[in-house]
Amino acid sequence: MYDKTVIKNYARLVLKFGVNLQKGQGLEIACSTENASVAEIFVKEAYELGAKIVSMRWTNQRIQAINYEKGELSELTNIPKWFIDSKNFLLKENYCYIAIDDDDPFAFNSVSAEKLSKIATARSKALKNFSNSVMNNGIRWCVVSLPSKNWAKKVFPNTKNPKKLLFNEIAKCTYLLEKDPIKKWEEHVRTLNEHATALNHYNFEYLHFKNGLGTNLKVGLANEHVWLSAKEKSVDGIEFIANMPTEEVFTAPHKLKTNGVVKSAMPLSFNGQIIEDFTLTFKDGKIVKATAKRGDGILKGLLSIDKGCKYIGEVALIGKNSPIAKSGILFYNTLFDENASCHLAIGKAYPTTVKNGEKLSVKELKELGANDSVEHVDFMIGTPDLDVIGITHDGKEIPVFVSGDWVI
Ligand code: ZN
Ligand code: ZN
Repeated sequence: MYDKTVIKNYARLVLKFGVNLQKGQGLEIACSTENASVAEIFVKEAYELGAKIVSMRWTNQRIQAINYEKGELSELTNIPKWFIDSKNFLLKENYCYIAIDDDDPFAFNSVSAEKLSKIATARSKALKNFSNSVMNNGIRWCVVSLPSKNWAKKVFPNTKNPKKLLFNEIAKCTYLLEKDPIKKWEEHVRTLNEHATALNHYNFEYLHFKNGLGTNLKVGLANEHVWLSAKEKSVDGIEFIANMPTEEVFTAPHKLKTNGVVKSAMPLSFNGQIIEDFTLTFKDGKIVKATAKRGDGILKGLLSIDKGCKYIGEVALIGKNSPIAKSGILFYNTLFDENASCHLAIGKAYPTTVKNGEKLSVKELKELGANDSVEHVDFMIGTPDLDVIGITHDGKEIPVFVSGDWVI
């Protein structure tokens, strides 16, 4: 149903520029059964590029929803050892990993918030070793998107061909419709890198976020924090891009130095349910009050998964002129919505966002102020009128964002 050349370009872009697949390397692709025909093209291209083996991890949210609804909680939270081993195998065998995300943001609406939150907690805890390694760049990974029927219908209701419309938007935001997508990505990476370099130069102690929605939040940054953008390096020194699209420049906040109030700027899809119109109040880094007009139970469940879920682990800046922001579309999908708007993340900080972080122990990371948790959930706070002021260690105030866009 999609243009074959565009899909082929997509596969090449993700394999070469995303995970940067090396000759003789293994690859795993996670994809839903609905998009099997596209996955087939990814697999073929991977072998063309010299993959040793390509393994598939098939998903099907509709079946998963039945399981969540009908299954006993004791069974759903009993994560089998073979499943955990199969994830750790990827680390051991130095695979790279592509996740093709086509999740329906409302897939698990029929499951109770409490049950969902218990399943999510059990899964996150069981896969802690794998997710730690992912966040530490111990594996080269890339998350990309394809439409699914249910997701597309949510983004483009009452239209004739929502899947095609959504694919077109995904292609635009991922620069797939450019004459030479790889060249365009190289330019894009360079621009983001310039912003990161400027922020690293100032080495701010705080960022102060303010907008008309009612956000008035001072985010302290971790000691020895590093601003990163699109391109990262895996522990074996090979470059990769973990998210496509990506528009963000991000770092680690200091766990104990955030104060004030933040209002969500967009709905957050978490575990197949929606949290909307929420307010978080911070005192010395801790979320001391949280209310949501919709999905309040889901939000409270998320904040109580573990102790680290009461603190933030990421602050990310995205200008309002990114193609995703300019599309004006609410995607109900974190990969897209987080790249349309400045965001924070509840939970773990990427160790790579502090100097030499991938070599530091949990204790050393904690001493620098980097938060630890089994979760990492982005939520959007950027609006077109958002101002961000950087405050240096000697108290100088430098505008970073004026009316939602970069001035640094
Ligand atoms: Zn981010
Ligand atoms: Zn994040």
